[in-house]
Amino acid sequence: MNGLMMDQPLLVKSIVEHAQLIHPDVEVVSVTADNPRHRYTYREAFRRSRQLANVMAGWGLQQGDRVATLGWSDHRHLEAYYAICTSGYVCHTINPRLFLPQLEFIINHAEDQWVFVDRDFLPLAEALAPLCPEVRGWVVMTSADFMPETSLPDVYCYEPLLADASDSFRYPQLDENSACSLCYTSGTTGNPKGVLYSHRSTILHTLVSMLPNVMNLGGHEVVLPIVPMFHVNAWGFPYSSPLAGAKLVLPGSKMGDGRELTGLINSEGVTLSAGVPTVWLALQAHLRASGESVPSLKRILTGGSAPPLAILEEFDRLGVESQVAWGMTEMSPLGTANAPTLLSPEQTTEAASKTRLKAGRQVFGVELKITGDDGEELPWDGEAFGNLKARGPWVCSSYFRLEESSAHAEPGWLDTGDIATIDPDGLMAITDRSKDVIKSGGEWISSIDVENAVLSHPKVAEAAVIGRPHPRWGERPLLIVVRDRGAEELGADEVLDFLRDKVAKWWLPDAVEFVDELPHTATGKIHKVGLRETFAEFEF
Ligand code: ADP
Repeated sequence: MNGLMMDQPLLVKSIVEHAQLIHPDVEVVSVTADNPRHRYTYREAFRRSRQLANVMAGWGLQQGDRVATLGWSDHRHLEAYYAICTSGYVCHTINPRLFLPQLEFIINHAEDQWVFVDRDFLPLAEALAPLCPEVRGWVVMTSADFMPETSLPDVYCYEPLLADASDSFRYPQLDENSACSLCYTSGTTGNPKGVLYSHRSTILHTLVSMLPNVMNLGGHEVVLPIVPMFHVNAWGFPYSSPLAGAKLVLPGSKMGDGRELTGLINSEGVTLSAGVPTVWLALQAHLRASGESVPSLKRILTGGSAPPLAILEEFDRLGVESQVAWGMTEMSPLGTANAPTLLSPEQTTEAASKTRLKAGRQVFGVELKITGDDGEELPWDGEAFGNLKARGPWVCSSYFRLEESSAHAEPGWLDTGDIATIDPDGLMAITDRSKDVIKSGGEWISSIDVENAVLSHPKVAEAAVIGRPHPRWGERPLLIVVRDRGAEELGADEVLDFLRDKVAKWWLPDAVEFVDELPHTATGKIHKVGLRETFAEFEF
C-alpha cells in the first residue's frame, strides 16, 4: 500500500522560491575585481538570475545542454549557477587551475555551448577559444566599465546583457532526476572524469549538509566558504546558505590571501567558514604575523586533505571550533563529518588528538564500507586498512560519457580510491590514496599519519611521504620536507628523532630529503605522482 503523500519533485528552483519568500533580505557579499565589497540580498540575487535565465532563453539551447562557468566565487557566478540549472540546462563549473590540455578536453567532452568567464581568466579563455570551436559564445562576468579588450570571438559583457532583460521568468517543470550541474575531477592520471549531479541529488545533499551533526547551518550564521565555486559546488554552500537563510560571503579571487580573508571575516562578522588545510595555513600565518584576531569566527570545517594537528590546535588557541569532514567530487562532495557525540569515550589528550583528526562518521544517506584486495568486507575495528567504498543518493553512479571505470567495478558501490580504517563507533580515518600507499614487507604504512606527525615539528612548513623501491622490503618510505622560513639548520636526524615516539618504529622513513617547495595539484593537494617522478632515481 502506498502512502498518501504528494509527489513533489526535488528541484533547485525550490531553494530560490523558499529563500525569496522566507528570507529575501539576507545579504550576499562578494569580492569582485570591479567592487571589493559588492553587497545585495537574496531577493536581488534571484531577481537577476531570472533576468539571466531570460537572456539564455534567447540562445536557442535545448534542455540538458551544458553551459560552463570559469569564475571565482562571487555574486555573478551565483546568479549563473541558478539561472542555468533552473532553466533546465546543466551548469558545468570549470576549474581554471587545470592545465590547458585538460581544459580543452573537458570543454569539448562536455560539449559546452556557452561559457561564462571571469575577467581574470580572459587570457585562458582566449587560449581555449580556438581549441573549442563548438562553443557558441563567451560572456565576461563584469560591468561595461571594466570590460577589457579581448580577442575572444562572439563575446558579450555580463551587465549590459542583463540590463534590458525582464525579471519575470517561468521556471520549466523538470524531472527531479534531470541533470543540474557537472564537475570534472582533476585527474592526476588520465583524462578528467565528469560527475553529473541531478536536481534530486543536489537537494538531498543540501538538506543533509545542514544537519547539526554535519555543518549545523542555520539562519544565525554568516558563512564564508573559502572553497571555490568552480570545484564540487563549493561544498554545497551556494545551495545550503540561501536555504538556511545564512548570510553568504563570497571571497572572489582572495581565497589564499590571509590578510584579505581576515579583513572579510572581521568586516562581515563571519561566524562559520570552510576550506582546505592550505587556506587555514595562510589565514593563521597572517594572524600570527599581524597580531590581528577574528573574534566573530566561531567554527571552521576543514576537508579536501588531511589536516595537520597544528592547524586545529592553533584554532583552539584562537577560540575557534574546528571540525574535519571528508568527501570528494564524486560525492557532491559530502561523505563524513567528525562531529562530537555524547557517547564519545573519555580519552587521554593524545587519543583525543588522534580522534579529532579522523575524517568522521558517515552522514545520514551515505553508506561506507572497507574491503580487502579480494573484495571481502573488513571489520570496523580501527585496525584493518581497506579500500573505502561508498553509496548513497548523492554518490556518482557512473561518469559522464565514460562507459567503464574501475571506480564502479563493484556494482552499486563507488570505489573512492582512498584507503581507510573505521573504528567500532563508526569513525573513519583516511590513511592514504590507494595510488599513494606504501607497502613495506606486505604491510601498509599510512603516509598521512607520518606526514601529520612531521608537520607538528615547529620548523617544518610542509611534508610528504612517498614509497620508493627497497631491495628487502619491496618499498620503504622516503620523507620529503620543506623547512619553515629561517629554519635552514633543520637536518634529517632532528626530524627522525622527533618522529621516533610518534609513529610505529617500522613506519619511520628510511631517508629524509629537503626541497624548497612541493608540487601541488589543481585543487591544492600535494602532487605525489609528480614527486615520485622527481625522486624516480632515488635509492636508499
Ligand atoms: P581532486 O582534488 O582530485 O579533484 P576531490 O576534490 O574530489 O578530488 O578530492 C577528493 C579526495 O580528497 C578524497 O578522495 C580524499 O583522498 C581527499 N580528502 C578529502 N577530504 C579529506 C580528509 N578530511 N582527509 C584526508 N583526505 C581527504
